[in-house]
Amino acid sequence: MQKQTMHVGFIGLGIMGQAMSRNLHQAGYPVTVWNRTASRMEEATVWGAKVASSPEELAAVSDVVITMVGDTPDVRAVVEGPKGVLAGAKEGMILVDMSTISPDATRKLAERVMEKGVRMLDAPVSGGDVGAKEGTLSIMVGGEEEVLRDVMPLFEVMGKNIVHCGPIGAGQTVKACNQIMCGLNLLGMVEALAFAKKAGVDLETMIQVTTQGAAGSWALSNLAPRVIQGDLDPGFSVRFQQKDLRIVLEEADRVRLPLLGTAQVHQLLRSVQAYGKDEDGTQALITILEQLGNVKISEKD
Ligand code: NAP
Repeated sequence: MQKQTMHVGFIGLGIMGQAMSRNLHQAGYPVTVWNRTASRMEEATVWGAKVASSPEELAAVSDVVITMVGDTPDVRAVVEGPKGVLAGAKEGMILVDMSTISPDATRKLAERVMEKGVRMLDAPVSGGDVGAKEGTLSIMVGGEEEVLRDVMPLFEVMGKNIVHCGPIGAGQTVKACNQIMCGLNLLGMVEALAFAKKAGVDLETMIQVTTQGAAGSWALSNLAPRVIQGDLDPGFSVRFQQKDLRIVLEEADRVRLPLLGTAQVHQLLRSVQAYGKDEDGTQALITILEQLGNVKISEKD
């Protein structure tokens, strides 16, 4: 498909979707948007998007429809619900779901979507709000290579590290692997901070040295300094991390795989939620370690 003729429909203008769709518009693609809450569409008209009155209307004018919503039921709602994408899709249209949802539900949704003559990729991302703004997301793609070839120019606008992971659902599976490691690195980081504090060593020195060695991780480099400063703002919220770990644990249950570490992180973050801190960044896990160990690291309540 030529750039000039590839009409993009973008559904979900949250933290991620607003920036991603704007980048597509700025790269020269005609972009039509739809968002459940209308005020977010008004913001998009300022940078030049056209607005559709429903996912159905959006699909009718699009060659490629991208969904960037919250969870599995939300993707189903905008795709299969009343006035959903499938109601307006033309044969041959490509649906690209970039939300983080269940791999199993993705495969089932793709079967139903393809029955309607619509092609589909799953393409969840990592890189957060900064990656979305800067167009540097990592994109994990599941689906047929031929479909990926058609959509690649759009991915190259939104991301830098674009990897075909396998058949439909494989992108979501790799994203789930990513979240397992993020969760366990997070736990390692907060445990090390609590331990260092109790043992009386300087926290910044500990971080500086360990970041360079075998214990280095994104959580250590990016979140540990924020914990020391008492900065628990998101980044990536506890609510979303819990959604992602729930997806991992459901999939592990389906394939009969015990994931002890992941389950433990999920339960510890549930305790963060019990204190009403769903919208804090995941580094708020430190607050539970502080209570368990009677040690104070973060400055915030
Ligand atoms: P967000 O800011 O909370 O935005 C969520 C978007 O989904 C909003 O546009 C929301 O519409 C829409 N939505 C939710 N449920 C819906 C439904 N039932 N029907 C229609 N629209 C619905 O979330 P985000 O940070 O952009 O994240 C979007 C996806 O990317 C999630 O799957 C998340 O896990 C994934 N992700 C996020 C990050 C990150 O750092 N934020 C990083 C990687 C991946 P309203 O405006 O009406 O609420």
